[in-house]
Amino acid sequence: MARKTEIQPVEEAPVRYGEPEGGGCDHTGCTTTEAYRCLYRDRRAVDCAWVACKEHLRVVEGRAYCMRHAGIEEVLALARKQGQDLLPPDLDDRCASLVRAVANDLSEPVLERLVRWSDANTSIINDPAIRYTRPDRVHRVPGHWERVWALATRTGLLLRVGVRVEDTRPETVILTGGITHLMATVPPWIQRRLSGDLYPGSQSELVERLAFQQQLLQALDSHVEKYGVAYPRSLSRAPL
Ligand SMILES: [Zn+2]
Ligand SMILES: [Zn+2]
Repeated sequence: MARKTEIQPVEEAPVRYGEPEGGGCDHTGCTTTEAYRCLYRDRRAVDCAWVACKEHLRVVEGRAYCMRHAGIEEVLALARKQGQDLLPPDLDDRCASLVRAVANDLSEPVLERLVRWSDANTSIINDPAIRYTRPDRVHRVPGHWERVWALATRTGLLLRVGVRVEDTRPETVILTGGITHLMATVPPWIQRRLSGDLYPGSQSELVERLAFQQQLLQALDSHVEKYGVAYPRSLSRAPL
């Protein structure tokens, strides 16, 4: 007899869609006429105006959202599971979903590096949460969403790697190593959107994302090459 040891994903409930809307799917190039409003409602009770067909909506916990808000709802759902009840960010706040998108691409190679840079005395912290930090006026730190990986010993962190997006510059992705900003740059796909060039085709978007990922990893590598992770000897023996 198999014992139930895992929590079953909630998939039985029927998917809830927003109000059906005439005029068809908002997704450029899509001609589907059967379309529904995104169910996202922000903390000020402003509803998303996006309308899309079932193919261009994404379901998170049984509710259908536009692609952008599905990303945000996933962050909120993750936070809830970890006991943090965050209010849905304002409609124009894309910080959390940008952190998530970049962190998803970055997670595997960052973890690979942490394994390589660790030794018997260290452990790896891989916290999937994307957390909001409130603005700290005293230390002049703006409010930001962040995803963190770290190398730790029993006595503290040796290396803390973060991907964050600040409220004050929602298009800029910041890579941190410890308290140092290693890189602060607008990802190419957002630069493109800002300049009004919307659809390059999925192939070049993938190439853009990979190139951006490499840029961030190179910044991290040179930081560790230069400053180490508090074990410079073992690090200098390790292949880089
Ligand atoms: Zn569509
Ligand atoms: Zn939406």
